[in-house]
Amino acid sequence: MTESEILAIYEDAGALLNGHFILSSGRHSSRYLQSALVLMHPAHAEALAAELIAKIDPACCDMIVSPAIGGLVIGQEVARQLNKPFIFTERKEGEMQLRRGFTIPQGARLLVVEDVITTGGSVRECMDVVRRHGGEPVMVLAVVDRAPHEQDRFDVPHRTAIALEVETYAADDCPLCRENTIPAVKPGSRSN
Ligand SMILES: [Zn+2]
Repeated sequence: MTESEILAIYEDAGALLNGHFILSSGRHSSRYLQSALVLMHPAHAEALAAELIAKIDPACCDMIVSPAIGGLVIGQEVARQLNKPFIFTERKEGEMQLRRGFTIPQGARLLVVEDVITTGGSVRECMDVVRRHGGEPVMVLAVVDRAPHEQDRFDVPHRTAIALEVETYAADDCPLCRENTIPAVKPGSRSN
């Protein structure tokens, strides 16, 4: 699939929202991506996971890990197609953790899969958890990169299916707030 074909899937699913949004970082933006509305369709999840897998050597990893909640669906689908185990990290009281009895074999190589990356904060926290448990993150895969010019977010290589730069504004310097026609809303959960 080309980037424009993938973007068309997002538009058709109503997942590319236009309005006035407060992002998890606190910054404001006129566009927001709700990947859950795309990944709720198994055929889309299957196709996007195949796109991501085409960008890697499947032998590079032993297991797949995703930060919950955003990465769960695409991470599971990547793992299914690679026929490798899938685990996830999740926040409890704000801190990313490995729970539910998941363990990581010493030295296991983990592929980190996320739906949307912006600052990459959740992915970095997920990689920290992997390392604390004796695993080695080898690469990051994400469907959408919202900050493609920031190349130094991770200390391992990353690949994404589409880049969609979204302009954001400081909350106290937002043109949409100044226009004062659409109230700012906080959509869904943390998306980075
Ligand atoms: Zn605003």
